[in-house]
Amino acid sequence: MRRIAILGSTGSIGINTLDVIRRNPSVFKAVALSTNSNTGILQRQIREFRPLFACINDLNSARGVGSVFKSTVKILSGANQLLDMLADRRIDRVVLAISGSAALPPLLKAIESGKDVALANKEALVMAGPLIMRLAAKNKVKILPIDSEQSAIWQCLEGQDRPKLKEIYLTASGGPFLNLEKKQFKNITPRQALAHPRWKMGRKISVDSATLMNKGLELLEAMYLFGVAPEKIKILIHPESIVHSMVEYVDGSVIAQLSVTDMRIPIQYALSYPERLPAPAAFKALDFYRLKTLNFAKPDFKKFPCLKLAYQAACDGGTTPCVLNAANEVSVSEFLKRRLRFTFIPLVIEKVLARHRNIKNPGLKDILAADNWARRQASNIINKYD
Ligand code: NDP
Ligand code: MG
Repeated sequence: MRRIAILGSTGSIGINTLDVIRRNPSVFKAVALSTNSNTGILQRQIREFRPLFACINDLNSARGVGSVFKSTVKILSGANQLLDMLADRRIDRVVLAISGSAALPPLLKAIESGKDVALANKEALVMAGPLIMRLAAKNKVKILPIDSEQSAIWQCLEGQDRPKLKEIYLTASGGPFLNLEKKQFKNITPRQALAHPRWKMGRKISVDSATLMNKGLELLEAMYLFGVAPEKIKILIHPESIVHSMVEYVDGSVIAQLSVTDMRIPIQYALSYPERLPAPAAFKALDFYRLKTLNFAKPDFKKFPCLKLAYQAACDGGTTPCVLNAANEVSVSEFLKRRLRFTFIPLVIEKVLARHRNIKNPGLKDILAADNWARRQASNIINKYD
C-alpha cells in the first residue's frame, strides 16, 4: 500500500488524483490532504478518504474545522504546519498539485524529507529548476512528472540511450484562440480565456494555455526535468491533444506517447511508478479507427508573444525564468479580475524582464528576492495602465 499526501487536493489535479486513489483502493491510500481555503470540498474528502492529516493554508478558513472532526483526523493550518507534516514517516509519496509559486516551499521540504514527488505544479520548477533538481539528486528523491507533456517525454526517454536524444517535440493544443485573428485578441474576456477546448483545469493554468505561456513554462519545466538545452526543444501545435509529446533520437526514430485527454492517466503513472497499473474501467481508451487524422503545425510567435519571452528566459537562465513566472502570475491574476487586458499580459512581462538584472546560478535567497521584486514591478506597471 503506497501512502500518498495530496497537496492541493481541492483543485483540478487534486480531485483527479483522489479519483485515481478511489479506483485503486488496494494500492493507494490518501493519508494527507490540503487546500488553500476550500474547506467545503476538503471536509467531503476527509469523510470519504479518512486521512491522517488535512491542512488548510488560510488561517481564517481553518477556524472551527478541527472541532468538526475531533480526533479522527489531525487538522493543521497555515504554511508552516504543512511543511512540518511533510516529514511524517507515514507519507511515502507527495503529489504536488498546489498552483503557482506557493508550491516551492513544500516541494523543497518534501525533497529534503526524502519523499518522492509526483509533480503537477510547474511554477516552482520554473522558478528554481536547477536548485530543485540538485536537491532531489542529493536526497535521492525522484521527481515524477504529472503534467501530461512531461509525463510523455519521461515515458519516451525511459530505457533509452539518453545521450542519443536529438530533439524533444513538446506538443501544445494551441488553446482556445488558436484560430482567432490577432486583431480580436484585445477584446478577449476571462470567460473566453477559461474555456479550454480540450482540458478542464484550474483558472490560472487555463489562462496560461490561452496565452500559450503554459507551453513556455513547460519548455522550462522540460529543460530542468530532463537536463535538455532549450534549442533541443521544439514546440509543436497539435490541436487534437492525443500525442502528448515526442522524442527524436539521432538515428531518426521518433518515440511518442499517445492517450486520450484524461489527466488521470499521467497521474496514475506518477503514483504507481515504476509499475504500470491497468486503467480503471472509467478511463476511456484511444480508438484509432475513429481518430483518423492528427494535425501538427508551427506555433505563431507573433500571435502568442509569451512563447518568445519564455524561450528568451530559457536561454538566459539564472533568475530570469523566476522573474518571467512572477510577472506572469501577477498579470494573469489581474486579467482574471478584469483589471488588465489579455493583450497586455505579455507586455507587462516583457517590461519587467527588460528591467531585470539577471543573477546567474542563484541560491534560494536570490530566487525569492527576484520573485518578490518582479511581483512589485509587475504591479507598478499594471497600476500605471489604469
Ligand atoms: P487549481 O486552481 O484547480 O487547484 C489548486 C490547488 O492548490 C487547490 O487545492 C488550492 O486550494 C490550492 N492552493 C492554491 N493556492 C494555495 C496556497 N497558497 N497554499 C496552499 N494551497 C493552495 O489548479 P490545478 O489543479 O489546475 O493546477 C495545479 C498545478 O498543476 C498548477 O501548477 C498547474 O500548472 C499544474 N497542472 C495542472 C493541470 C491540470 O490539468 N489542471 C495539468 C498540468 C499541470 P483552494 O481549492 O482552496 O483554492
Ligand atoms: Mg501540460
